[in-house]
Amino acid sequence: DDVLVKAVHRIMGHADAKRRLAVRTNADTGTDAARARRFGAEGIGLCRTEHMFLGDRRELVERLILARTEEERETALAALLPLQRADFVEIFREMDGLPVTVRLIDPPLHEFLPPLEQLAVNVAVAQERGEDVAKEEALLAAVRRMHESNPMLGLRGVRLGLVIPGLFAMQVRAIVEAAVECAQQGGTPKPEIMVPLVGAVQELETVRAEAEKIIAEVTRGCGVEVLIGTMIEVPRAALTAGQIAEAAQFFSFGTNDLTQMGWGFSRDDVEGAFFWRYLELGIFGISPFESIDRDGVGRLVRIAAEEGRAARPELKLGVCGEHGGDPESVHFFHEVGLDYVSCSPFRVPVARLEAGRAAIETAGSDSR
Ligand code: PEP
Ligand code: MG
Repeated sequence: DDVLVKAVHRIMGHADAKRRLAVRTNADTGTDAARARRFGAEGIGLCRTEHMFLGDRRELVERLILARTEEERETALAALLPLQRADFVEIFREMDGLPVTVRLIDPPLHEFLPPLEQLAVNVAVAQERGEDVAKEEALLAAVRRMHESNPMLGLRGVRLGLVIPGLFAMQVRAIVEAAVECAQQGGTPKPEIMVPLVGAVQELETVRAEAEKIIAEVTRGCGVEVLIGTMIEVPRAALTAGQIAEAAQFFSFGTNDLTQMGWGFSRDDVEGAFFWRYLELGIFGISPFESIDRDGVGRLVRIAAEEGRAARPELKLGVCGEHGGDPESVHFFHEVGLDYVSCSPFRVPVARLEAGRAAIETAGSDSR
């Protein structure tokens, strides 16, 4: 066993020495961050904050989304702020000294709203019993107003942040306050704030203007630097990357959504529905959600990387979709010239290895 462990370490060391791609992890908790760090992760490339709004906090989020007065909204936000701050402190501590990309909330709205059918049944039952249902009816009407037939193309990501005043601001404040707290305790937090589902530079500019005010106010003189960047996961973002780069310090490719929207395939439904037939016909050899579709979605990545870098040479480029941990895709991201891939903790060693192999392979072809 000892021999095997040593051999693995030697191979990993070799890959690490050769690779140009950094390898980060996708993690939303301190536990995942710590595990990934043991596997060699060099930072967090995607912290999905919507996962922090489930469980006990669901109710607060529901109240926030359905708030009818400014006061209701402010109360919900004020209750969420310290909870979020504690989430980020934990993560910054585990990843001290390494970059941590925190993505502002990107929930499909329906996951946070009470189910419409259930509410309708409740109202009907209460009415039958002759109870006063005014409150329940108001809730039902509000949820009905927000109901979407295509939640994945609906009020998600940056759109939600632009529609609900104070939501992104609360998160930005929590991130920056957490970073300042860690720095004051002698740590070196490296927060990067990431805006999801951007399709137009104006969306990013709006969020960024508000975020910068908060960052300036909270970091005053304490030396914490906060980067602001965006996901590139909507085809329009890839095609207007030159404009978007004017407002972004980094891009992270969300290849899950880029594949969904590039092909027009629902991430949640198609694999069982008809992919078997596509595989049978050889339209693709492997699901494009697993391995990057070089000819189509991959081209969007290439265009965005080139145009983004042309507009801002120091732009940092990464990928945080599932493809970040897929061996074949890692080779592609190396070829395109990204700076890092980010994948789930358990895939970090494979990504390191493949990044090393990709570097060795291209070195070989360069010298031919
Ligand atoms: C993506 O779309 O690739 C991504 C990383 O974001 P999510 O999977 O959370 O939509
Ligand atoms: Mg996405």
